[in-house]
Amino acid sequence: MNILLIHAHPESRSLNGALKDFAVQRLQSAGHHVQLSDLYGMQWKAIVDAADTTQRLSTTRFDVAMESRHAFENGFQSEDITREQEKLLWADAVIFQFPLWWYSMPAILKGWIDRVYAFGFAYGVGEHSVTHWGDRFGEGTLAGKRAMLMVTAGGWESHYGPRGINGPINDMLYPIQHGILFYPGFDVLPPFVVYRTGSTDESRFARICDELGQRLDTLFSADPIAFRPQNKGDYDIPALTLRSDILPGQTGLSIHLSGRNDRNLK
Ligand code: FAD
Repeated sequence: MNILLIHAHPESRSLNGALKDFAVQRLQSAGHHVQLSDLYGMQWKAIVDAADTTQRLSTTRFDVAMESRHAFENGFQSEDITREQEKLLWADAVIFQFPLWWYSMPAILKGWIDRVYAFGFAYGVGEHSVTHWGDRFGEGTLAGKRAMLMVTAGGWESHYGPRGINGPINDMLYPIQHGILFYPGFDVLPPFVVYRTGSTDESRFARICDELGQRLDTLFSADPIAFRPQNKGDYDIPALTLRSDILPGQTGLSIHLSGRNDRNLK
């Protein structure tokens, strides 16, 4: 299978650098084809601006979404953007690897999303009407592909547990896993998270690699997170609220996961 690994760390001799090397080797020795986007190594341009298009739609005002659509539809995108979109289309699975910085991804990776996820490619796809609000959240250009976050965090696992001060890890990663990965169609696998990075020594590193190896070996067989698709009946459209007869009265991020309990209710 084809696997794209997007790596966002400024230092190759870091824990993230070592885990990236391990992952590439493991995947290749299992027979997969791997492409690496090492964002710092590529000196990836992280900001969206008018240089992202070779032919402007308007020279009076730079409207990010309209310029993005114009460039995507007419072949006017800068080459670095097109190359990354081609890698995404090539991939059967994409791994996003990064250290948790301020409860999110490093800016360089966010900038990769902002620029590569063009209008017409990752958003603005499909019919937009009062009965079908675009091909997104389970449908879209990247449907049929798998994605997984590979994240390192200085905090302890308990800090990200069900009652941890940071909130549960899957709640914290929801904007990335649901908003960035599920939105354009990816099936999203549970994240691989290394906690308490400061206490890593050689023996712990070996254990982390064992666990990571198992996750990589099951990249194409593990169950994805059961996010509810937008257009399969669970949501009222165009309000985009969960139907009132599903998990009645409940709120919060977890209602967007389908489960045994609510299936019985339907
Ligand atoms: P490194 O610093 O490279 O290494 C970590 C440890 O692993 C070191 O002890 C090192 O000796 C050891 N190590 C490295 N490579 C190996 C190897 N091959 N074998 C054995 N041991 C090895 N954390 C949070 O939890 N939440 C946050 O919101 C958050 N925000 C942050 C914001 C910023 C700006 C920064 C700088 C850090 C933040 N952190 C946060 C901590 C951050 O997540 C960790 O520092 C990061 O994940 C560690 O990954 P690294 O690759 O940089 O590790």
